[in-house]
Amino acid sequence: MHHQIPPKAKGADAGRKNFVPKSPCFYIKESIWRKMISHCKSELPLEGCGLLSGPALGYGNNCWKMRNLDASPISFSIDDQELRNTFLEMERKGEKLTGIFHSHPTSRAYPSHQDIKYAHYPAAIYIIVSFAKKGPEVKGYKIKNGKVIPVQLIKY
Ligand SMILES: [Zn+2]
Repeated sequence: MHHQIPPKAKGADAGRKNFVPKSPCFYIKESIWRKMISHCKSELPLEGCGLLSGPALGYGNNCWKMRNLDASPISFSIDDQELRNTFLEMERKGEKLTGIFHSHPTSRAYPSHQDIKYAHYPAAIYIIVSFAKKGPEVKGYKIKNGKVIPVQLIKY
């Protein structure tokens, strides 16, 4: 939904097998965007992580800060029980998991080999907040079967 495909490109690609729109969109609330970045900042020099939820895929309406079990500057993992509890809370709000974010304290905003290997939620968007440059750089991706597809992040 809300894939911005110019009519021409759509026609040209429609016949292609396994067509995936090149740049799907993810709509994230301005306040959630800020919450996500400030959480990652507060976790520096370690990687920070968390989840986003919304009423439908493609929407980040809530931010759930998670503990980085690895407590590492180069990796993150989330405790299974904490994950299950958060999924239940999302359900109670009538929402579902739409995004997973984590930070890269010193590397660029692109999924690492590990990020790709452990990306188990193909429907969700993976957001990376990089502090490698001065201001945080925030990028979104879909990760499916080892493939990384950039997703346009739209604040609203
Ligand atoms: Zn990463």
